Amino acid sequence: MSVARPWASMIPSRVIERKREGETLEEATLEEFLQGYLDGRVEEYQMAAFLMAVHFQGLSDRELETLVRVMLGSGRVLDLSHLGRPRVDKHSTGGVGDKVSLVLAPLAAELGLYVPMMSGRGLGHTGGTLDKLEAIPGFRTDLTLVEFRRVLEDVGCAMIGQTREIAPLDRRLYDLRNATGTVPSIPLIAASIMSKKLAEGLTALVLDVKVGDGAFIPGEPRALELALTMARIGRARGVRTSALLTAMDRPLGRAVGNALETSEAVESLRGAGPPDLRALVLLLAAEMLVAGEVEGDVETSLRKAEAALDGGRALERFQRLVSAQGGDPRVAEDPSLLPAAPEAVPLRAERGGFVTRVAPTPLGYGVMEMGGGRKRLGEAIDPSVGFVLHVAPGARVDEGEVLGIVHAAAPGDAEHGLQALRSAIEISEEPPQPLRPLVSHRVRGSEVEVLARS
Ligand code: URA
Repeated sequence: MSVARPWASMIPSRVIERKREGETLEEATLEEFLQGYLDGRVEEYQMAAFLMAVHFQGLSDRELETLVRVMLGSGRVLDLSHLGRPRVDKHSTGGVGDKVSLVLAPLAAELGLYVPMMSGRGLGHTGGTLDKLEAIPGFRTDLTLVEFRRVLEDVGCAMIGQTREIAPLDRRLYDLRNATGTVPSIPLIAASIMSKKLAEGLTALVLDVKVGDGAFIPGEPRALELALTMARIGRARGVRTSALLTAMDRPLGRAVGNALETSEAVESLRGAGPPDLRALVLLLAAEMLVAGEVEGDVETSLRKAEAALDGGRALERFQRLVSAQGGDPRVAEDPSLLPAAPEAVPLRAERGGFVTRVAPTPLGYGVMEMGGGRKRLGEAIDPSVGFVLHVAPGARVDEGEVLGIVHAAAPGDAEHGLQALRSAIEISEEPPQPLRPLVSHRVRGSEVEVLARS
């Protein structure tokens, strides 16, 4: 009599070899490999090797669909259909200085949407919304799903981390990718983002796909492919999904580092703040209103969003959100209540000229180097450290002018920060090449619209 061996068909090393050689795996084999990872039959090192193989060989549409299905099915899918109004979230593929969610979630709630937002922590050189929110004294991002629902119902938006119940397979793979240099892969990013978002019980989703050398997928054609891939995954599950391709050839706004970015987000909610941040928030809010079918056109949506931001209503909503999640709401009036680093050291221009470049990646790694990002899983971070830029590409500077300020915990760290800032800012006698447009493309379903050319 034969003995049943339920996983006899799947030998992990063979699955890795086949993917390494560019083969397409059968649905059942891939599913079993992924389930095997969840239940301990596939080891961490085997999954790390598999991810590296996927990084180089990619996944077919069918394999990607299987990955998303298993990720989603590894946890719960929220049913928020009782809420009545459209439930629309935004997710970014990751950037430097990207504090958009902190402004956008309360703004979109103020505009009549429910925003059940699950965000991540820093990944690679990019920052994470959760780390920025946790810079607010007392703010809890670890709400239970029951608490999450309550805040969402009361405030219209709630901002938490991926709970244990939501796409646990993504949660583990996300950490493993972060530790093994396998983040920048179109299918892995698409599956990671979409499995979380599809679990949120949304009616529509807007993606902010970063493009430029500070993005995980730097080139425009591949960034478009990422946007279209995610839109296809969303559409296949009945979630209206659109995307904007936005510039990450320079940091967004002026602040890079958790508390500094939270402070800048508060400025923006107060109707001030850097113009690029404000413009992007408004465009994404407008896209959310259209995707949620609250408004039919972007122009009307933009006007509504501007009125809510400038009239202080989004700020009030932010204050309610902070209170509801245990944070100190006075931060909205007085950002100096956020943690501040003891060292604030200026970097001055060694010569006059044009700023031709402010590279995002060295700044992202600079924050990590100063203790503001994790080099190892689960490490505590210092929310106060980072950079405030005083110049943007195109600016004309004189010798000795302040280019930016390094915020650090100790003089030795400030020295690392100065090195990072120095390597990020390029000064030349010639004016720079034009930057990428802040928003270059819009993807709705399978349609691509060019909004501005670089
Ligand atoms: N954000 C995610 O949630 N996952 C990724 O892989 C990249 C950005």
